[in-house]
Amino acid sequence: MFTVTLKPKRDRPTRQGHPWIFSGAIDSVSGTPAVGEPVIVCAASGEPLGVGAWSPESQIRVRMWRFGSTDPLDETFFHEKVAAALAVREGMAERFNTNALRIVNAEADGLPGITVDRYDDVLSGQFATAGAEWAKPMVVRALMALTGASSFYERSDVDGRTREGLPQATGLLAGEEPPERVIIHEGEVRFGVDVRKGHKTGYYLDQRDSRRIVASYAAGRDVLNTFSYTGGFGIAAQKAGAKSVTHVDISAPALDQARANTVLNGFAEDSATFIQGNVFHELRAFRDRGRSFGLVILDPPKFAETRSQTMKALRGYKDVNLIGIKLVEKGGWLATFSCSGAITPELFRTVVAEAARDAGRTLRIVQELRQAPDHVEALTFPEGLYLKGLLCHVE
Ligand code: SAH
Repeated sequence: MFTVTLKPKRDRPTRQGHPWIFSGAIDSVSGTPAVGEPVIVCAASGEPLGVGAWSPESQIRVRMWRFGSTDPLDETFFHEKVAAALAVREGMAERFNTNALRIVNAEADGLPGITVDRYDDVLSGQFATAGAEWAKPMVVRALMALTGASSFYERSDVDGRTREGLPQATGLLAGEEPPERVIIHEGEVRFGVDVRKGHKTGYYLDQRDSRRIVASYAAGRDVLNTFSYTGGFGIAAQKAGAKSVTHVDISAPALDQARANTVLNGFAEDSATFIQGNVFHELRAFRDRGRSFGLVILDPPKFAETRSQTMKALRGYKDVNLIGIKLVEKGGWLATFSCSGAITPELFRTVVAEAARDAGRTLRIVQELRQAPDHVEALTFPEGLYLKGLLCHVE
């Protein structure tokens, strides 16, 4: 293996178990490792710190696979990593009454760049980095052997691959072609998941807990489910006895699936309203017509891809929260989220507080929300907390 030597005093994060080494921390490389190839990482003194994956095109030049040992990486290493990730989730499917879980959560599971969701018998995964691509065959074999899944479908059609100098990749990696829609359930609520064309790996498992919690506030209320995707929050709310549900999303295929999911849950297709449009415009249109709702859900996509986009993202969150809050009737509820890792929970609270002030409304937080527990977080990798939300009473 080639050796990457860090600059003096730049070894602290690595010693503390942080998996990322930025290009600016690197002093020298002993040769020209191939894209994704494992490299030995050494402190300036020459002391070996571990083994990582070489990403020559990325600002994150090395992602650590193992700390404190320079043993080469083999099939057994990845088998054990995958087994450890599965062990963390043991009993979760039963505990959360579901057949869909995130079973590998990248850095937090010691497998940087690798995200795998299980939808019933089908695995759907993203290999976002050069190292992930290098390790892919071993990880796929380990997952198929350890889960007994029927298929492994790849959804490496992610922007991050471009920053790594990798082409997008989708298709079957192992097993048989998955069904057109995999039927999953979260408690009593059922959803069809399209692993080939759906967003990310097909569905947003990270909101599982929040969908259940927020739905418990829906009975008898008019619910506005913005950024609805395939219906998630709204259908859970409808099951929980909402008076009416209005879904808004910009994506026609997402709304088609939301309609199908409504029917899948025993409701007529016309029992809910589906609006295809830009949430920023549609919310203003509701306001102009004097519409209000007893529960408003704001679950926008990532507004900040990188730290440098934080300011722009804050304006987006402020805007959508300002107008969303105005639509909540007095005594109603707001569930508002941010999935931008660059926006900290504190910063998000500040934005929502500013929006409430500008809307002239009083909000009280009854519960802080975050990504579901199968989206584990490593203490050594605080960046892994990306999804946070606030459930608020609105006066
Ligand atoms: N709440 C969903 C997940 C939302 S993901 C769930 O529980 O499953 C974000 C969604 O926002 C995507 O479906 C995307 O199509 C939609 N979207 C992105 N920008 C939008 C915009 N400006 N207006 C409306 N929808 C938008």
